[in-house]
Order: sequence, then C-alpha cells, then structure tokens
Amino acid sequence: MKKCSMTLMGIFVILLLAACNDNEEPDELSDPSNTEQEEVNNEEITNSDDHTEEEMDDGEEEEEQADEIVQEEEPDPEPEPETAQPLYELSESWNLVPLNDQVNEQVVLLTIDDGPDEHTLEMAKTLKELEAPAIFFVNGHFLQTDEQKNILKEIHDMGFAIGNHTYNHQRLSEVDEDTQKQEILELSELIEDIIGETPKFFRAPNGVNTDYAKQFVKDQGMLLMNWTYGYDYFEPYMDAEKLTEAMVTGEAPEVDVNYSLLKPGANLLMHDRKWTSAALEDIVKGLREKGYKMADPNTIKLPE
Ligand SMILES: [Zn+2]
Repeated sequence: MKKCSMTLMGIFVILLLAACNDNEEPDELSDPSNTEQEEVNNEEITNSDDHTEEEMDDGEEEEEQADEIVQEEEPDPEPEPETAQPLYELSESWNLVPLNDQVNEQVVLLTIDDGPDEHTLEMAKTLKELEAPAIFFVNGHFLQTDEQKNILKEIHDMGFAIGNHTYNHQRLSEVDEDTQKQEILELSELIEDIIGETPKFFRAPNGVNTDYAKQFVKDQGMLLMNWTYGYDYFEPYMDAEKLTEAMVTGEAPEVDVNYSLLKPGANLLMHDRKWTSAALEDIVKGLREKGYKMADPNTIKLPE
C-alpha cells in the first residue's frame, strides 16, 4: 500500500512538473501573436491530417490507405512511362525556360549538328564520359551505310536525343513544299527504321525555316528549334582553344559578339567538326565551372 501511494505521488510530481513546463513555453514567445500563429499553423497541419483520416474513414484496409496517401502525393496520376516530366519549354528565342520556379534555370542545352559524319561518335563518347546529355541533329545523307546507321544506333543507345536536320541538309526556303515535306518526313522514317523511334526535335539547316515547314514539323509532333549561340562555323573559331573560350564565355569578339550570350537556358549550337570535337570536353567542364548544368533534352516540353 505504502509503495503504491509513493508511486502515485511520484506520478503526481512528474505531472505537476510537466504542467509547469508547458506553462513556461509560451512565456518564451514574447509576442502573443506568435503563439496564435503557431497554434493556427498547428491546426492547419492537424486539419489536413484529419482530412486524410476522414477520407479513409470508410472501413478500408490500412494498406489501401497507405496507397492512397502515396497516390495523393503524386503530382501526375498518369505519368508517361518512357518520357521524363517536362521541366522546360522552348521560348520563341530558342532558349529553355523553366516551367515552374522549382526547376533549375541555370542550365544550357548542348546540340550537335551535321552528323553522323567523322566526329559524331567520338563526340558522343566524350559527352557520355562527362555524363552530359545532348541532342544530335542528323542528316539522311550521313545515314547511308551500315556503319553510319550503327553509329546512330550507338549514340541513341548511349541515351542521346536524336533530332531531324533534313535528309540532304537542304535549305528549306529554296525548295517547294513537297520537297520540304520529303526532306523532313523521309529522314524521320529513316531514323525510325534505325533506332525504332521517330525524332522529337527538328532543326532546319542554317536555321532557315519556312511557314510550311514550321507547320509540318509541328504536325509531326516535333519541336522545332534554332539556337541561341554557336561559333564553330566562323573561321576565327575553327580552333579548339579559341572555340572553347568563346563557348564558355558566350563571347566571340572576332565575329562582333562583344557581349556574353551565355545565359540561363542558352541553346548551344555545335557541329560534327574536328576542332569542336577536340574542344568539347573543355567546353562542358568550363560551362560547369560557371555553374551551368547540361539540360536533359527529355525534360523539354514537346508540342501537344
Ligand atoms: Zn547543319
């Protein structure tokens, strides 16, 4: 009996101490409105919990309830299994724009045109080694032999995006609509024969687009893009060191770009060229040192 009342007394003391402790806490908050705010916040949290519980209060199994919570947290109930969630859209001036403010805007998009000629495979291997995603815009006249087709397959298997750059590197403004259509469609079909899927991106040779081609590309479900800067096709920059400097700074004073075009979302044009291939590793590393990540083309929003 004595032991029991001692225990009860002990519990009482503990409860008393706990109560005193509770009373002290609000005193630490000098501003009473803070306390109120905190209570409101707590209520909101509690309410949302209650809400979840209410929804489940219909005799379902606990496991099913857990599933429901997980599903509620999923932003998109029907995600495309093979396509990453779009994070960026392409602006009218061809740069990547984040779709919401949670997305890192400090990115650049790497694109490599005119392959698979002599340097595409080597360039893809360099980028793969650096874990730097890119789009390779290819031409049909470089996809005639088994060796060329295998290169395309290989770079696709490495995870790079493949873009359509017309069958014959045809300047679209110089041919009639039927020919424009052929130039685009026949290459998409050839690419599909080789890699098992049609290209999602289109870039016109020399960046020359016609209204007809723009519409046709869109109808084909492809995203048309030019670029924001690239210097490897200007004589002064056909040199690995000079090209690296220009691509990493965004400036090319020898072709009158005395200001930097390196900005968040910049769309970088490069080609299957000896000097570009030699510069590629330093370009990627230099851009990373400047705080830029290489955007994943799979996260770019495509036409509906
Ligand atoms: Zn080209």
